[in-house]
Amino acid sequence: MYMDNSATTAVDEEVLKEMLPYFNEKFGNASTLYGLGVDAKRALEKARKQVADLINADPSEITFTSGGTESDNMVLKGVALKEYQKATPENPRNHIITTTIEHPAVLNTCKFLEKFGFEVTYLPVGSEGIINLDDLKAAIKDSTILISIMHANNEVGTIQPIKEIGEIAHEYGVLFHTDAVQSAGKIPVDVKEQNVDVLSISSHKINGPKGIGAIYIKKGVRFEVLIHGGGQEDGSRSGTENMPGIVGFGKAAEIANEKLEEHMKHNQEIRDAIIEKVTSQVKDSYVNGSMEHRLPNNVHLRFSGIEGESLILRLDNEGINAATGSACSTHDLKGSHVLAALGIKPALSHGSLRLSIGQDNSIEDVDYIVASIKKVVDYLRELSPLWDNETDEYIGDKFEKPVDDEDLDRY
Ligand code: PLP
Repeated sequence: MYMDNSATTAVDEEVLKEMLPYFNEKFGNASTLYGLGVDAKRALEKARKQVADLINADPSEITFTSGGTESDNMVLKGVALKEYQKATPENPRNHIITTTIEHPAVLNTCKFLEKFGFEVTYLPVGSEGIINLDDLKAAIKDSTILISIMHANNEVGTIQPIKEIGEIAHEYGVLFHTDAVQSAGKIPVDVKEQNVDVLSISSHKINGPKGIGAIYIKKGVRFEVLIHGGGQEDGSRSGTENMPGIVGFGKAAEIANEKLEEHMKHNQEIRDAIIEKVTSQVKDSYVNGSMEHRLPNNVHLRFSGIEGESLILRLDNEGINAATGSACSTHDLKGSHVLAALGIKPALSHGSLRLSIGQDNSIEDVDYIVASIKKVVDYLRELSPLWDNETDEYIGDKFEKPVDDEDLDRY
């Protein structure tokens, strides 16, 4: 039972079928002028429209990239380099606003830019993972060149008020970028309605192939190009186009768009059933993040007294694939910077579990999932020094320390 769809998704059969001819039969280079090349160019432009339609953009506003990470890097570094050229000692154009809960593709790019003299404000979030709009307004200064705030969080699924954030950005004349890798195709994304200037999106989160993504760049917005070469993608990202990937991404975007309502309903039904049953059946279990402003496919739970890695391994034995936090952080044992930003103490954040729902999951699976979680949590608590089996209570309070700067800096 695959329940890690925020990490990646299986390629949809229909998507795969569309992609296959572009590996051999239709292998043309879209920059060439004979039939094969013209066919590739046509497929490229069809996919651009399919991706544009998913977010209500114009096809000319879509630039294909190798994925969400590249899109985030291109935007942050591209804007920083453009503004750097205009900066003077009296008018430094060097301030970026983001949040403490961004994906490492944004946070580590910000850290990189800090090495070159850029100043970054990392806005805090409340206990549900949402920024305070007054904090955003207060952080804007004359030197602010970019606000980069994710639409939906990849760990706890919290959805930010991006329409209002975009309004504030525009009121102050600052460019607004949002990382919509987890939201596009999962909830409505409309760049016009939501006041977005630049947006990152990735194919493999919506049942498309890996290694392909895009940036939406609103007409008239310009920043420095980072990948120079033969001038593909209208000069904004050179390199021979990844045609199978692009065609697959286009088809995946088309399906996600057509079935958005149906998928949202399906995901939310499973999400709510798991949350309701686990929190009522498993002692000391809590939901991380917001229930109101939450991705329909995100379940993020916390169990006191146990440790996430063991939970994941034991659930794997039960046939359930899930995550402790973000897929990007499982290679180290550090606690999640997102849960720290929500104010969850390190000892408790370690006992967290993310189940992210996809189209292959079914409401019929819920009872098995809940029973497996209960079984594994009970077993781990029996072994845990933080759980008193006599009284059936959490006794880890004495090991808990408050969240400190080191916890927030763990990405
Ligand atoms: N941004 C967010 C919010 C993500 O969840 C991810 C992937 O997990 C990325 C960016 C990176 O996207 P990609 O894997 O396409 O590079």
